[in-house]
Amino acid sequence: MESPPYDDSNIFAKILRGEIPCLKVFEDDHVLAFMDVMPQADGHVLVVPKTPSRNLLDADPAALSALAPRVQKIARAVKAALGAEGLTILQYNEPAGGQTVFHLHVHIVPRWSHVELRKHSGEMAKPETLVPIRDKIVAALAEAK
Ligand code: AMP
Repeated sequence: MESPPYDDSNIFAKILRGEIPCLKVFEDDHVLAFMDVMPQADGHVLVVPKTPSRNLLDADPAALSALAPRVQKIARAVKAALGAEGLTILQYNEPAGGQTVFHLHVHIVPRWSHVELRKHSGEMAKPETLVPIRDKIVAALAEAK
């Protein structure tokens, strides 16, 4: 079945254009990373390539090449900042695959063996909860340089 084409009215395209705010963790020429507002665990970060694509299936391989090392760098910082025991990296494709926002993104979710993953696109976190976590991740990224 053919997927619909990329539509730049999606919420991540609006965040990339600066039309909607986000809690930014990292930005360079290739990606913007920010806190997920409905985190599946504390420290849940989304890494969004600036090159538009609906998901992995229509992505430019060059954009994927730039994405992978940035996901790795941010994942290491998230793990260090939160003292996580591990990480779950998620990437959903098409509604049947669980995708809800149709601009490619990678989820970085810190994990602890005793903590259950919360529901995908579940409960909205308060900014006062997210901001101190974001600050810790930004500090860990600065230390990694
Ligand atoms: P997916 O199902 O992979 O498309 O996931 C979309 C993710 O984006 C979910 O985890 C949502 O919690 C998250 N999300 C939706 N809107 C926003 C937003 N405005 N800022 C940050 N995260 C968002």
